[in-house]
Amino acid sequence: MGDNCIFCKIVRGEIPCRKVHEDDELLAFHDINPVAPVHFMLVTKQHLVSLAEADDSHAALLGRMLVLAPRLAKQQGLHNGFRTVINTGKGGGQEVFHLHVHIIGGGLIPPMVRRD
Ligand code: AMP
Ligand code: ZN
Repeated sequence: MGDNCIFCKIVRGEIPCRKVHEDDELLAFHDINPVAPVHFMLVTKQHLVSLAEADDSHAALLGRMLVLAPRLAKQQGLHNGFRTVINTGKGGGQEVFHLHVHIIGGGLIPPMVRRD
């Protein structure tokens, strides 16, 4: 699984990244095209396409990601808060089909949904 997946290649060390965190199950690295002063992503080392493919067997792993996110955000200087984004499927704007959580902050973070 994931032979041609860009995030699997990063997990395997075949493509370089600016690493933020690594443990047995998770890797965090800076986004190559940041939308804010701090923008990194937390990915599962296991190739999982998106939340739509997750099942009960992934519950602990997904929980770990959400518990780790604020710790890493603080380490990156986001003491006032941060935004987490998980895009799911083409309809959710997902571009890399390997589950990841964006952690975004610093500067001005606009409302996510604009209501005119
Ligand atoms: P998504 O639209 O949620 O699938 O987000 C994919 C994200 O991956 C985008 O924000 C890209 O900038 C980011 N990205 C793509 N390739 C790389 C890479 N080699 N290293 C770091 N981030 C990447
Ligand atoms: Zn992958």
